[in-house]
Amino acid sequence: MEEGCIFCKIAAGAVPCFKIYEDDLMVSFLDIGPVVLGHTLVIPKKHYRNVLDVPAEVISSISGRLPMLARAVISVVQAPACHVLLNSGVEAMQSVHHLHYHIIPRKYGDGFGVPWPAGQLDAGTGRQMAAEITAAMHQSH
Ligand code: AMP
Ligand code: ZN
Repeated sequence: MEEGCIFCKIAAGAVPCFKIYEDDLMVSFLDIGPVVLGHTLVIPKKHYRNVLDVPAEVISSISGRLPMLARAVISVVQAPACHVLLNSGVEAMQSVHHLHYHIIPRKYGDGFGVPWPAGQLDAGTGRQMAAEITAAMHQSH
């Protein structure tokens, strides 16, 4: 348990939440500040900061539950679609520094939108970026 972490407290049952699922590893509950109705969070019980910090086997087990959770959430709000987001770091809009997935149901006209100003990847940059990232992966494992 990380000192002062609100999600550690929720995982320990010390702070109440609108819980939808719990097992040995994880808890899922409604976001207290939903961007749309049904906005749900999924957290490991153990404290990890985000995707840059979590062991592969932990995130693998947690994400294995996402299809079940997302299907249940969107069915209840009668949405045909959803985002599954994992903000990692303050620059990427992470405000609670305990790993969490957002499940955000989506339907046309729901008033929510994620800005996505798509650019254009040219072949030279693409080749170089792909090579650098592949090399970085080999260095860190
Ligand atoms: P993020 O910006 O990705 O770190 O998202 C943190 C999310 O946690 C926000 O959507 C908050 O509304 C939500 N949140 C913060 N405190 C609580 C809480 N006590 N119970 C439920 N959701 C919370
Ligand atoms: Zn925590």
